[in-house]
Amino acid sequence: MVQRMTTGAYRQRPEFYSFQEMREEQELCLRSHLNYVAAYSPYYQALFRTEGIDPNRITLDSLSGIPCTDKVTLGLQSDSFLAVPRSHIVDIVLSSGTTGRATTIMYTENDLLRLARNEAIALVRCGMTADDVVLLTCTLDRCFIAGLAYFSGVRKIGAAAIRNGLGSLSSHLELIRRLRPTVVVGVPSFLVKLGRFLLHEGIDPVMNSVTRIIAIGEPIRDCSLGLLPLGEELERLWSARLFSTYASSETTTSFCECIAQQGGHLPPELAVVEIVDDRGESLPSGATGEVVVTPLGIQGMPLVRFRTGDISFLDDTPCACGSNSPRLGPILGRKKQLLKVKGTTLYANAINAVMDTIPDVIDYYLVAESPDELSDRVTVYAAVGGGASCAESIMETLQARLRVRPLVVIVAAAELRNKLFGGDSRKVNRFLDLRGKSISHG
Ligand SMILES: [Zn+2]
Repeated sequence: MVQRMTTGAYRQRPEFYSFQEMREEQELCLRSHLNYVAAYSPYYQALFRTEGIDPNRITLDSLSGIPCTDKVTLGLQSDSFLAVPRSHIVDIVLSSGTTGRATTIMYTENDLLRLARNEAIALVRCGMTADDVVLLTCTLDRCFIAGLAYFSGVRKIGAAAIRNGLGSLSSHLELIRRLRPTVVVGVPSFLVKLGRFLLHEGIDPVMNSVTRIIAIGEPIRDCSLGLLPLGEELERLWSARLFSTYASSETTTSFCECIAQQGGHLPPELAVVEIVDDRGESLPSGATGEVVVTPLGIQGMPLVRFRTGDISFLDDTPCACGSNSPRLGPILGRKKQLLKVKGTTLYANAINAVMDTIPDVIDYYLVAESPDELSDRVTVYAAVGGGASCAESIMETLQARLRVRPLVVIVAAAELRNKLFGGDSRKVNRFLDLRGKSISHG
């Protein structure tokens, strides 16, 4: 029988040791990981040879001497990252690449067990137990890892899963009525839609069984850890506590908020996280930069210092929950989606955060262009419902909240759906970057 992750087992882990002991344990895990990649990963064997890196001499403090790996390299040379014979691979997923083609990520049995442990830690961290019933609104198939990861974590803590994946709003409603889940896992913008639907169908959020929401894939907090309007609406619609998590298929590691809700704790035995500047140099705690993850103990496609392209910060001050592990702040944006609009810089995320709160807006996407070198031009294409919102009122809302005024163009819902869900992309892409390209968008 699978050994369960209980609250007792959770609290015996390294992050509850003294800070010094936790670092020593993490450094042992790091050394073992680096020795593994030096022995089995063709990519890192070559890199370590070229750079003259001896894995036995690397400490947590000198880790930043190893060059970072990025998504482009992983996408172009994915075979050279494979560190086991193909026969050891048990699951293959795709991760949206930056080169136009999805990157293949392969996991061994051990990688999936590690993932289950990671997710179980995350679920216990936000107060879940074997008594919980968890509605999963993320898919378990389509070559994604998130659904499988949460399902494995739910099993490992002995709770019960309801795997309704990408089911319709009414099928989720029916399951909530019949099976009374205590926790819902899903993407915030979808859970807002589901929450509005429940309310519309007469299900009182205070009376329904859901007490916790695990928010995946989209940030719900701002840089001071307060809830974004999307997060506030989620809490109001569900009358439940929100817990944000951050994860990626490449790093196979997730960081989840604890009951103190002060950023996502990193399990020190499973990952080292750094925040780096453009040159890949580590920044001190509190500074904002790119999130770089070294997932520890991965066998299939191990990585060292992987640049995620996401922007955030770390907080290493003690947490009220008693854990000494640093916490990762909310994702403030994608590095590639930084916009310069008439002297103001902002991430595309910030525009999404406002658009997500306008009830009339059915869906939207952004187009960024660079008519000149000094400023980007952003156009928001939105489909709206039968309410009072029009292009002018949306522009005013954006101006009031962001101090930039992108052009808003209202389009038909069907046209917008084609744009968002058409083509080969497996994920909804709300950001079309035409900067540096001469084609015009109509
Ligand atoms: Zn905590």
